[in-house]
Parts: sequence; C-alpha cells; structure tokens
Amino acid sequence: MATARSFDVIVIGAGSVGTPAALCLAEAGLRTLVIDELPSVGQGSNKRAIGGLRATHSDPAKIRVSLRSLDVFATWEERYGDKIEWRRGGYSFVAYREEEEKSLKGLLPFQKSHGLRIDWLDRKQLLEAAPDLNPNGLIGGTLAPDDGNASPLLAIHAFYRRAKSVGAEFRFNEKVTNLIMAGGRVTGVRTDKGEYWSAAVINAAGPLGAEVARLAGLDVPVRPDSHEGAVTESVARFLEPMIVDIRPVAGSSNYYFYQHDTGQVIFCITPCPPIWGLDVRETSSFLPMVAKRMVEIIPRLKNLRVRRTWRGLYPMTPDGLPIVGETKEVPGFILAVGMCGQGFMLGPGLGQLLARLVQGSLSAEDTDTLAYFSPYRKFKGQEKLG
Ligand SMILES: Cc1cc2nc3c(=O)[nH]c(=O)nc-3n(C[C@H](O)[C@H](O)[C@H](O)COP(=O)(O)OP(=O)(O)OC[C@H]3O[C@@H](n4cnc5c(N)ncnc54)[C@H](O)[C@@H]3O)c2cc1C
Repeated sequence: MATARSFDVIVIGAGSVGTPAALCLAEAGLRTLVIDELPSVGQGSNKRAIGGLRATHSDPAKIRVSLRSLDVFATWEERYGDKIEWRRGGYSFVAYREEEEKSLKGLLPFQKSHGLRIDWLDRKQLLEAAPDLNPNGLIGGTLAPDDGNASPLLAIHAFYRRAKSVGAEFRFNEKVTNLIMAGGRVTGVRTDKGEYWSAAVINAAGPLGAEVARLAGLDVPVRPDSHEGAVTESVARFLEPMIVDIRPVAGSSNYYFYQHDTGQVIFCITPCPPIWGLDVRETSSFLPMVAKRMVEIIPRLKNLRVRRTWRGLYPMTPDGLPIVGETKEVPGFILAVGMCGQGFMLGPGLGQLLARLVQGSLSAEDTDTLAYFSPYRKFKGQEKLG
C-alpha cells in the first residue's frame, strides 16, 4: 500500500537532467520524488552553464535527444507562458584552417541524415551571418539555424514549477547517503533525514554521479573537471549565432560564445589539459586566455567589459557521451549521468526518454539511443564536437 514515503520513482538530483526528468515522469502520472542536497533547484552545474542549446553533434543519439530538447525550449513560452530567454540564434562552428574545414564538412551528410538542419557557409555567406568575424584566414563554417540558447536558471525554474504543478515532490537540503536494497534490487533511498521507497531510482547526481553510483557498488566512469564562464555588460545586438572555435592552442581546446537575448556576451573555454576535481574557485588565468582568443576572432569584442566570471563542473565521461540506462547489477537503479558540457541541452529530451524507460514504453529509436549511452559500452570513441 502507498504511504507518504513511497513513490513510483525517486530522482537523485534536481539539476539540468533531474528536473526535466521529474516533469516528464510526473506528467506520465508517476508519483515522483526528487531529492537534492542543495537548497534549491539547479544549484549544481545547471546554474553554471552558459545556456547554449544545440543539436549540432557528431553522434545520432545526442542529435536525436537534443532535437527533442530544442523543441521543448523553443515552444516553452508559448505553451506555458514562462520567459526562459530562448533565442533561436543558431550555432556556427567556424573554420580558419583546412583541418577544421575538413572535419566539419565531413560530418554534414551524417548530421543531415539524422534530421539536423545544418549547412556549410563559405566565407562570404558566413560573414553575412556573423559580420564581425575576423575575415583574415576565415574559410567558412557550419550554421545550424535551429540551435539557440536560453537562461539555464529561468528554464530550470520553469521546469520545476511545472513539475510541481503536475504532482512531483521535491526535497531540498537533503543528501542521499545510501540505497536501500532487497532481493538484489533497489527498493528505496536513505538520506540524512529519512527513508523513501521506490522500485525505480534515477541517479541524476551530475558531477557526483560516480559517488552516488558507488552507493550501489558500481564503478561508473564519470569524472568532474572544471570550466570557467563569464558574462559581459549588455550591449545592442551585433551577434546572432553561438560561435564555436574548435582549434586547439596551447592551454585550451575549444571555446564558445554568444550574445544572450538580453544583450550580454556569455562565453567559456575548455582548458587543455583538463583540470580534474571539484574545485570551483575562479582562476586568474581564465580571462586572459579566453579573451585573447575571442578578440582574435571578433576584434570588436575588445571594447566589452566583463562583469563576472565563475567556475563550474562538467561531469565528464571517457568518450564524451552520457551514461544512461538501467543497471544490470542492481535492477531498478537507473543512471542518467556523465552529461559532459551538454547537460542543459540534453535535459528535456533525456527527461522524456527516462519517463519512457521507467514506464517500459521505449520505442525502437529509444533503444537505439540508449545503446549509444549504454553504461556497458566500451568507451572507445571520442566526441568530435565536444
Ligand atoms: C562554465 C560552464 C558552461 C557550460 N555551458 C553549457 C552549455 O552552454 N550548454 C549545456 O548544455 N551545458 C553546459 N554546461 C554543462 C552543464 O552545466 C552540465 O552538463 C549539466 O548541468 C549537468 O547536469 P546534471 O543534471 O547532470 O548535473 P547538475 O545540474 O549538477 O545536477 C546534479 C544535482 O545532483 C545533486 N546531488 C549530487 N549528489 C547528491 C546526493 N548524494 N544527494 C542529493 N543530491 C545530490 C547536486 O546537488 C545537483 O544539484 C556548462 C558547464 C559549465 C561549468
């Protein structure tokens, strides 16, 4: 018999993945509990994301899931009335060298075959789409016009409010410290405040995903590494697409930036080698490193004043793909971890997939998607647009 502490599904983590998942689970009529150790929704990695939303990926599973997410972000305000600062600005991966031209063009047929609207723009066309790009040495780039951006905090609060309105329960300031098992399967969770019962428990603990998996005796290859972001003052619109430059240079690999709906330029960079660990104190090396690269590519950015920097965590996996699926060792325990630098854009699409997984109503396409994200894959490949 159901008690106040028994649920159809428990989600550990009210972040980029756990919150939209709770929404989809509750919408499907499942009694859903979300537990987070932090005081409110989105206080882990979610609020540190810069807000980029793309389906421009190099594998079918992330393209599919992100296309579903984009549909949710793009239609949210019209469907529910909340402002999430969605803007369909597009994403442009630019090429200043033949290496990038070749690898970006090489992905296009495959990306298009999976339903992504994307094209190669030559130098002249790209300068029409982003007139302030440095023309010197510019070869061209891809443009996916349906990609975009939104505010991670406004979006997660919108998902949270809607999840609650359809019956999901949230408990904050409460840490999951153990899983409860019976007959070889999960039957609930123990927190620092009590016990809750459910035959389905989703680990959406983000950068702490491996730690939570260890509660089930599982070794899951999710390792947090830190990335910094920054926001400038707000200025009149001059830039539409998110610009991504994947050329590696000493100290960093790719960096990406865009002009938010409210006028600020928001940006971040991928340090190389990665900075592993949980440290989220800002550094003094980030801003000089990223500003140099950004001003090279858009010289007029040198006039912008930076208002704030911050540092957060990517939950990394060895091959850059998330780890999603029910574990064989502990039936009922489902992993939704390892989002790398893409948890905000994957969240709503993954939420829908997780709801079908918990209900046992996966489509053939879902099964194929989950094969890419399988916890039991070999982790040999490498994401090309990470
Ligand atoms: C600088 C920067 C820029 C980024 N830019 C983008 C971007 O443009 N687009 C994009 O898609 N992604 C971006 N990301 C990545 C994105 O932030 C992450 O991939 C995403 O937030 C991960 O989502 P998650 O739900 O897995 O983790 P989180 O959002 O961190 O949620 C996990 C939650 O689990 C909770 N938790 C953990 N352990 C426990 C426990 N034992 N008990 C209870 N609660 C627990 C945590 O408190 C946390 O709230 C960026 C990240 C950074 C740092």
